[in-house]
Amino acid sequence: MQFQMLKIADILREYEQVRLMNKRKLQERRAEVYELIPEIRDLEQTSRSDYLALAIARIEGRAADGATQDTNRSRTEQKRSLLAAHGYPEDYLDPIYDCADCEDTGFINGARCHCFMKRLTDRLYLMSNLRDILEHENFNTFDLDYYSREPWEDKTYTPYDNAKSVLDKSHQFVDAFNTPGAKRGNLLFYGDTGLGKTFLTNCIAKELLDTGHTVLYLTANELFESVLAEYHMKDNKALADVYNYIYSCELLIIDDLGTELTNSYVVSQLFEIINRRGNYGLSCLISTNLPMQKFASRYNERIMSRIVANYTIFNLYGDNIRYQKRKKIIQSTT
Ligand SMILES: [Zn+2]
Repeated sequence: MQFQMLKIADILREYEQVRLMNKRKLQERRAEVYELIPEIRDLEQTSRSDYLALAIARIEGRAADGATQDTNRSRTEQKRSLLAAHGYPEDYLDPIYDCADCEDTGFINGARCHCFMKRLTDRLYLMSNLRDILEHENFNTFDLDYYSREPWEDKTYTPYDNAKSVLDKSHQFVDAFNTPGAKRGNLLFYGDTGLGKTFLTNCIAKELLDTGHTVLYLTANELFESVLAEYHMKDNKALADVYNYIYSCELLIIDDLGTELTNSYVVSQLFEIINRRGNYGLSCLISTNLPMQKFASRYNERIMSRIVANYTIFNLYGDNIRYQKRKKIIQSTT
């Protein structure tokens, strides 16, 4: 993923376009209404000249004429009832905003608006190859038949029953995001490669992105090397928004944890992420190939105790699916 390519200026330009488009839309509405209800044109024109007179009075230090303000207010009322009488919504000539919260500026009191975070997600989503992957890796294409229904080693459940339960829990995890007031959780998937961990992660990412949630998907390598180390050690300012996003998106996915070069920096950053996001009530989804014993010794006790307390942990086991898929393809082509 090329984070250097993420240009915040592009997002701000999108806002300019939205504002321009909405302004044009309003102009068209006005022209249409003026044609149909000339009284409204007259009302708006007198309002404008009154407003100007008021402004000039203020500049010259004269008391604003209270009567003028009142008539302006009653003109607005008149305008609204005229619109309604002609079958228009009352606010038909009000300013149009895609996001009324920030009036399409992307900021509320100097802080980024939620719609800005949404645009950032869309952009990251677009830039990553996630979009293509998610076309064919989603809940509809998740195939439980790759998991054996025979007993597996010392496990209580067959790989099939286990995977089925993980799939159910993944659906529940997603549902909580779309249920107001529901408590959102954290997930950790572990197991050997080729058991569908990334696939499941993709299913969850797609569902949440499709329902308008902000999701940041990073492999452990991307997270620690391409973003955090670049940002902290090389002082790469262009990554500030991605960095902030790590701490503000609704779901942070860390895929393949354990494949990075684990050092004390990585461990301290991982703790920071798990701890801070936990304090903010923001969810994480971690996948790893490491067995839990190894995971605990590679990272530290502080990390492990938070994961044990706050994460739902699933182990995926069974035969390697990628291998089975390849076998299937070979069989079907010969
Ligand atoms: Zn907004």
